[in-house]
Amino acid sequence: MKIIEKKDIPDLMRAIKSAGKILIAPIKEERTSRYAIIDDPSKAAFDLQLTRMSLKEHFFPPTECILEYQRTDDGIQIKDPPLPNKERVVFGARPCDAAALSVMDKVFTWDYNDSFYLARREKTTIVTIGCEKLGPACHCLDVGLSPNARDGSDILLIPLEGEKYEVDIVTDKGKKLAELWGDKIRDVSDSERKILTPKYETKKPPEDLDKKFESAAWAELTRKCLGCGVCAYLCPTCHCFDIVDEQDGITSGERRRNWDVCAFNMFTKHGGGHNPRPEQWQRYRQRVMHKFDYYPERFDCVACVGCGRCILSCPVGMDIFDVLEKVISVE
Ligand code: SF4
Ligand code: SF4
Repeated sequence: MKIIEKKDIPDLMRAIKSAGKILIAPIKEERTSRYAIIDDPSKAAFDLQLTRMSLKEHFFPPTECILEYQRTDDGIQIKDPPLPNKERVVFGARPCDAAALSVMDKVFTWDYNDSFYLARREKTTIVTIGCEKLGPACHCLDVGLSPNARDGSDILLIPLEGEKYEVDIVTDKGKKLAELWGDKIRDVSDSERKILTPKYETKKPPEDLDKKFESAAWAELTRKCLGCGVCAYLCPTCHCFDIVDEQDGITSGERRRNWDVCAFNMFTKHGGGHNPRPEQWQRYRQRVMHKFDYYPERFDCVACVGCGRCILSCPVGMDIFDVLEKVISVE
């Protein structure tokens, strides 16, 4: 078994910086917390159970330019924005946030290879730190994951007794990064493998949700949803976007894609005024069906990693797992 000492983590992060890579880690800000680019390892807040913002914004930003245009005497010139070319390392992702990347990989390589998302994925190595315990809204166990799940990670650090981590090298990218750390990674006897995280039972996500599409329970259970969209913005796996052209004057401008949210009234509104999901409960149902029925049907995995951000931040206390459980259990 390979281990690293907790006290060596700042050195491991400095080694990443010295190798010329961008370092991203969880940080606390004055009013929020997120994953951010840092230069100084002491800025990393590994004590956070979960950042308020997910890792999603580093792969699929809230708004991004996807082309620039300029009208000239010869016609319209289109310019592609540069793709990222510098290697990045996320140090200290939570297992749910890392797993969310493997969920999003499926949609961004489905009927079209999304060059923006894929360039960022390709250039980034994910070092995940497992959780020592579950937080108050954590539901990773309900979607088949766990506080030490490996999905989406290149290296998983599993917290052990004695201020150390087991180093689980998951991918070739992870192996390459681990070479930077030299003798900070030590081989020890398997008898030292005393995992701090309690043993939890994982569950399989619910099946047969399609049979509940017409259930009257949806309207009853989701009546209080305000349609504010907070749940989708904070969700590490929600990936809907809208595309708009923004003109900067008369002859030039840019095309941007911006996060969009199925809870919004305008999300499915047609140009002619008809809205196939006119009621808020229908929009909430769409969110749940997409995550737990349509996505698994197409990609063989649910589009929820159980991070609990939507539960922690909903202004009216909607709990997607509570709704799911109740809808499944009604006759
Ligand atoms: S479930 Fe909550 S957070 Fe999501 S749109 Fe409704 S009110 Fe907003
Ligand atoms: S639906 Fe909620 S619990 Fe599931 S991944 Fe999104 S924010 Fe996390």
